[in-house]
Amino acid sequence: MLRLEGKSALVIGSATGIGRAVCLAFAAEGATVLAADHGLRDDKRTLLEAISSAGGRALACDCDVTKEADVRGAVEAAVAEFGRLDIMVNNAGIGLPMRSFVECDWEDWQRVFDVNLVGVAWGMKHALPYMLAQGYGRIVNTASQLAHKPAPGAAAYSASKAAVVALTTAVAMEVAERGVVVNSVCPGPTDTHTWRASDPDWRAWKASQLPIRRVGEPREIAPAYVYLASDEASYMIGQSISPNGGDVSW
Ligand code: NAD
Repeated sequence: MLRLEGKSALVIGSATGIGRAVCLAFAAEGATVLAADHGLRDDKRTLLEAISSAGGRALACDCDVTKEADVRGAVEAAVAEFGRLDIMVNNAGIGLPMRSFVECDWEDWQRVFDVNLVGVAWGMKHALPYMLAQGYGRIVNTASQLAHKPAPGAAAYSASKAAVVALTTAVAMEVAERGVVVNSVCPGPTDTHTWRASDPDWRAWKASQLPIRRVGEPREIAPAYVYLASDEASYMIGQSISPNGGDVSW
């Protein structure tokens, strides 16, 4: 028996990196996946082919999480296609070049919150009515290790991800008794576009500080999502789990 057999999943922020690995892991565990992203163009065909070779069935749709109508549309597309929505992953996220708080560009600051926090809130807002009506759901939001261990030079990003953790826990407590389980994943440094866009010196230093002495691969992060999306997570309410190479915060 596969761990997500018969389940339908919507993954927003799925074109590359961690979201892509999550789609593949979900498909390998038997879920049918709607992969949504604002960047699904050239990636779309290869992502669907990869999901198909992982043994799964998948569809793709465009969705910019800074547009509420897009997020609502992605949820409605999943429900229309699958008849129900069992799992939602709110993974879309952006980083910024490392810069001190006093030098930050406020348009960038706003954009980080729009994508990383408001996009997650809209995802939950539109998925929850369906999940509450069916009395079952799993929501997994992507935060970051920086939510628990903020970094100088990344104030906006750290704050946006800490807010995702708090939002996740508050919502989880509101819906737990109605069969909907909401949690977040806080990845540590992971080799993706977002990671590679950060300052090379900082990347090298960061990797050297990790007990495991290397950054993670997206496929090493995805199993946390599989667990939180599965029936096994029925008693995990409002938690954040951190696949992070030992980058502990205390
Ligand atoms: P990535 O750049 O490969 O993936 C980010 C995905 O989000 C891309 O597919 C991108 O197209 C999508 N996206 C960005 N803005 C969007 C928007 N407005 N609407 C819809 N989709 C949008 O990087 P990643 O590292 O895989 O990032 C995935 C998540 O993991 C992000 O939330 C990121 O903040 C978080 N994260 C990454 C790391 C890391 O070290 N890589 C660590 C902690 C948390």
